[in-house]
Amino acid sequence: MTARVIDGVKLAAKIREDVAHRAAHLTAAGMKPGLAVILVGSDPASQVYVKNKVAACEKAGLHSVLEQYPSDMTQESLLERVRALNVDPAIHGILVQLPLPPHIDSHRVIEAIAAQKDVDGFHISNAGLLMTGKPLFRPCTPYGVMKMLEAEQVPIRGAVAVVIGASNIVGKPMAMLLQSAGATVTICNSKTKDLGWHTRHADIVVVATGKPKMIDASMVKAGAIVIDVGINRNAEGKLCGDVDFESVKTVAGAITPVPGGVGPMTIAMLLVNTVEAAERAQQR
Ligand code: NAD
Repeated sequence: MTARVIDGVKLAAKIREDVAHRAAHLTAAGMKPGLAVILVGSDPASQVYVKNKVAACEKAGLHSVLEQYPSDMTQESLLERVRALNVDPAIHGILVQLPLPPHIDSHRVIEAIAAQKDVDGFHISNAGLLMTGKPLFRPCTPYGVMKMLEAEQVPIRGAVAVVIGASNIVGKPMAMLLQSAGATVTICNSKTKDLGWHTRHADIVVVATGKPKMIDASMVKAGAIVIDVGINRNAEGKLCGDVDFESVKTVAGAITPVPGGVGPMTIAMLLVNTVEAAERAQQR
């Protein structure tokens, strides 16, 4: 058996096209959707991510602002910038790129973002809304995974899903979205005993650990859908996921590659969230 490879680049392009139409419509009505991205410090991976996000905005006809600050920026100055963007009518979405330097309390910064502009969906009130089944913004990466499952017509209601990784930005919201869609969900973490016992029972496996190639064919049920969120660099400096793609594709029903899987979907869903924020602002 060879798994179907889920093409995140193609699906993301389709979503971005739809975003561009919605953005053009809003712009014509005098409400060009705007995203502000704040980067503190010079982490090379973060620099690539924010550049890609800003470029994707411009391509889809959104207004975007990239604010870059040195790593010694004070927490108070950052909070001041967030507060200014909260009341800027040209900005509908605010994204503070994580991780922040250690002297800055990320929770305080995220909580300072106006919930209706929190397009990452990390604000505690957005996490609460997601948990209670009434999401305002779905965090971009799990939202992108749900769109992939939907596009692939993967049955979720009644499915057994295992999410490996329990972070606030990927694992936990991923589990919430799957559970809301009717899956029976197990969340595994680094303390989980006999991980393979869990994954071998799953119809859907989502892996988000940052541990290269930790899932191999022996841990996957035949025909399962395997979604690899991980972004790692191997010894040769090449991008790779958390799943041993070559091994798992021999047993899975469908699998996402790295690169070209979940990554492009994350950016596409950020644009979707920003356009939705502008549409809501227009209705206010
Ligand atoms: P994190 O470090 O915050 O969380 C990792 C989680 O994995 C933790 O809950 C930890 O307990 C769990 N874990 C670690 N080792 C494990 C093991 N051996 N078995 C079971 N669980 C284990 O990471 P994160 O921010 O959630 O990101 C996870 C990965 O996803 C990283 O590689 C990151 O770069 C990637 N990521 C990709 C995208 C994307 O757009 N594709 C977006 C966000 C994060």
